[in-house]
Amino acid sequence: MPDPHADSSDSPFRCTYVFPSGRRCRQVVAPTNANFCKTHAAKPASFPPEDRGLAEELIRSAGALDTPEDVKMFMAGVLRATADRRLPGKEATVLCYIAHTMLRCIREHAQHQKVQTETADAQAQANRIKNGPDKLTWNLPR
Ligand SMILES: [Zn+2]
Repeated sequence: MPDPHADSSDSPFRCTYVFPSGRRCRQVVAPTNANFCKTHAAKPASFPPEDRGLAEELIRSAGALDTPEDVKMFMAGVLRATADRRLPGKEATVLCYIAHTMLRCIREHAQHQKVQTETADAQAQANRIKNGPDKLTWNLPR
């Protein structure tokens, strides 16, 4: 059985709260909460019920968040909400961090697909060289 007090960054027993600086909390999860330590389990939800409209507005502006344009639209919404004083700077910082991570994921995914395509093309080319040119078949009417 894993040690619940282990200081491993991916330990399931470690608090999953991420500070605005991007550093993950080092505390052990609270016995009453599966994800957060005592300190962070007590925090209220990021968006109080009266701000659900803002949360929904930001989520809607994000689209599927699978293109840089989606992330750009989301960040534009965060900027507007922060400038209007509807979104605290701390929350905006966390959302910026998440958006930045999403951009990296999109870029990594695109790079992975490019490598896969190039590998498949190279394999097909190697097979053509190994097997010689395609055989021609003639189909003449009798
Ligand atoms: Zn914590």
